[in-house]
Amino acid sequence: MNINLELKDPEWGKRAVATLRTIAADYKDEIDDCLKTGNLPLKSFRELGKQGLIGVVTPPEFGGYGGSAPEYCLVTETIARYGLPSTQAQVQGQIWLLIWGTPEQKAHYLPGMSDGSIIFSEAISEPGAGSSLKTLQTTARRAGDDWVISGKKIHINGGACSDVTVVFAMAEQGMTAFLVDTKLPGFRAVVTDPLGYRLALTADLYFDEVRVPNSAVLGTPGQAMATFLTTFNVSRLGNASELIGLARRALSDAIRYAKERVVGDSKVTDFQGIQWTIADCYSQLYGACVVRDHAANLVKRGQGHALESSIAKKLAIDAAEKCLNEVFALVGGHGLYWDQPYGQILLDVKTLRVAGGSLEIMRNFIARQILKDEQQRGLL
Ligand SMILES: Cc1cc2nc3c(=O)[nH]c(=O)nc-3n(C[C@H](O)[C@H](O)[C@H](O)COP(=O)(O)OP(=O)(O)OC[C@H]3O[C@@H](n4cnc5c(N)ncnc54)[C@H](O)[C@@H]3O)c2cc1C
Repeated sequence: MNINLELKDPEWGKRAVATLRTIAADYKDEIDDCLKTGNLPLKSFRELGKQGLIGVVTPPEFGGYGGSAPEYCLVTETIARYGLPSTQAQVQGQIWLLIWGTPEQKAHYLPGMSDGSIIFSEAISEPGAGSSLKTLQTTARRAGDDWVISGKKIHINGGACSDVTVVFAMAEQGMTAFLVDTKLPGFRAVVTDPLGYRLALTADLYFDEVRVPNSAVLGTPGQAMATFLTTFNVSRLGNASELIGLARRALSDAIRYAKERVVGDSKVTDFQGIQWTIADCYSQLYGACVVRDHAANLVKRGQGHALESSIAKKLAIDAAEKCLNEVFALVGGHGLYWDQPYGQILLDVKTLRVAGGSLEIMRNFIARQILKDEQQRGLL
């Protein structure tokens, strides 16, 4: 639902949406299989790259389209809308490299990440550290010119198929981020079986004395919290867009069914109670889109967007949870089977309620900003 995304070229946006719809139809069998097995649908993922829909924020000199947050939001939402594999981590990685990468890192990784031939993952969460990174246990110590990384990461999207993963570890200088080649000795991935995000080949990652060169440091040693935040304030808009896309899919499928389904003498959509439900769901979704679009436009203009991105993610979670609760009023028993999309979408929404900064973390951040200065927030 593009309400006010300031795209570089609106025609490009229309073509991107049409291409994504075609890819979803062409690769439906692969995607259905991977949903059952919890695998990455590699062919459709590579096709997204080939069509220029993974490198949307990367400049043309590195093989990308050169867009900004509005293009990222449009594509991410549409990917979720059509049930394609998420490119969220891949785009997040590109943003990280663009902001923090050395010229050599950019040249080495960005073209492949942009066309999908290099798969990227982000290894942040650990058994003892999720919402807060204060208790990270993974360590990085200097060994001559190299660094040696040891620890365990969990819930990592694409962890079992990524070529490179960004690892956040505690070094003597403080938290430090590293680009780690997953072919290095001492690295091991163990695939897990999550309820949602089934197309991401999520894994636990083990780093047993993995030795990386100093050129693998992303950003400055000890400054990885800044590295983390610059990207997460944008990637929250990606999460919001995925939630909006998922909710759109559930609501539109349910409305299509309810318009045809006869109950007694009426169609389901003739009932006043159902119409109000549709109105409530759509209104919440619309509100979430307006804020998401506003925040994306702020990113594009280089203006502050941390508060707006968090509000966008919060509203998108609220709207998607509302829609995924209520669609069952429209589809009844028909929707309560695995051959229908609603169960999987519900589980994907619940995953995005937690992953990438949970609803509670968004609310904490929003509240802190308001309490800091009510006048500036327009309350007084
Ligand atoms: C399918 C899936 C994919 C994921 N992909 C990745 C990935 O690719 N890379 C990666 O690094 N991580 C990934 N994650 C991890 C995800 O980011 C974490 O699950 C998330 O940050 C929350 O951490 P946690 O699960 O440890 O919950 P905890 O931090 O243990 O929190 C437990 C509950 O307490 C709430 N809570 C925490 N702090 C507060 C507070 N201060 N106030 C109020 N409530 C609070 C949380 O919202 C949560 O509901 C993924 C998770 C899942 C499920």
